[in-house]
Amino acid sequence: MNPIYSRMGTTIFEAMSARARATGAINLGQGFADGRGPEAVLAAGARALLERSNQYPPMAGLPELRQAVADHYARHQGLNLTVEEVIVTSGATEALAAALLALIEPGDEVVCFQPLYDAYVPLIRRAGGVPRFVRLRPPEWRIERAALEAAVTPRTRLILLNNPLNPAATMTGAEDLAMLADFCVAHDLTAICDEVWEQVTFDGARHLPLIDFPGMRERTVKIGSAGKVFALTGFKVGWMCAAPPLARVLAKAHQFLTFTTPPNLQWAVAEGLTTQDDWIRDARLRFQAGRDRLASGLRAAGFAVLPSAATYFLSVDLTASSIALDDVTFSERLVDEARVATIPVSAFYSEAPVTNVVRFCFVKEDAVLDEAIARVQAWR
Ligand code: PMP
Ligand code: GLN
Repeated sequence: MNPIYSRMGTTIFEAMSARARATGAINLGQGFADGRGPEAVLAAGARALLERSNQYPPMAGLPELRQAVADHYARHQGLNLTVEEVIVTSGATEALAAALLALIEPGDEVVCFQPLYDAYVPLIRRAGGVPRFVRLRPPEWRIERAALEAAVTPRTRLILLNNPLNPAATMTGAEDLAMLADFCVAHDLTAICDEVWEQVTFDGARHLPLIDFPGMRERTVKIGSAGKVFALTGFKVGWMCAAPPLARVLAKAHQFLTFTTPPNLQWAVAEGLTTQDDWIRDARLRFQAGRDRLASGLRAAGFAVLPSAATYFLSVDLTASSIALDDVTFSERLVDEARVATIPVSAFYSEAPVTNVVRFCFVKEDAVLDEAIARVQAWR
């Protein structure tokens, strides 16, 4: 019998959530909200399940949802996308997999930035690609042109950008995006831009999509997720947007991954993108208040809290907090002893990890955040 094994580890999110369940910990690790999401979205999904077809929807998604995605981006980001330029996927994760499988030939190189979301490198490698890392450095996590130029070779085909950036909770600004666009054009690269956190931004900051920068309209795959827009992470409805020639290539990979996505959830998301702009705006303010609540509680407990401009997350710097543990040991002790789960940021590195930063999720009810803060304070 052939040996059964996998070179892929278990993701830190699953591992830490399992540990939180086992210890009865408050889970500020994996990024999910404890609210119900917009009622109108749930109702539209329930109605569609009972009243509409539950057979295979079209491979690229319901036309109504594809149109709703295009309209949403026209309103929020001033983009001018057509229905053919939007492909619905089973979460952003599937969009990432489809884009990487579609666009990488064995040996092609992909420039990506560290820290990075943990799915990227296994997906690049399984597609036969070779990741080339560019390091972003705290506290500003800016992208340096010299580092990009050092990473590019004649085999480079793609860059993979996450903006806003999980776990750093930063947003790439106009100057860096313009530089990236110039770099992609100069080296004839396609950009895969994971923008799942585009609607979860704070302090009035506005997300800028790379696809809107000079030369990028024809060479960008823009990825989004309803799970993040509506704080319904279990929905696993996402999309990828690209100019028609690129979209046709992406569809080829999508058809053999999932082919399609449950229709009732697609109707639910179409309803949300069409009618829930107010909910999205209010959620941003609620999440921002959660960020501030957790940050001040952790500061009061003596932690050095790093800024968070976007995402569900903030991080603490253990060294600056005078804690002499590495991030993995700290997270393990915190979940077992204080019963608060977090994510060690070294999980977001493939090489030479930063080992003194720990990520906390703040999109929880006030009482949950207060209890977590009390447990951490008592433990310290
Ligand atoms: N990309 C990033 C940067 C993420 O943080 C996440 C999930 N938190 C995903 C992709 C996956 O999104 P989805 O659940 O829609 O697959
Ligand atoms: N993206 C989520 C996070 O950063 C986790 C998603 C997952 O569990 N795979 O927490």
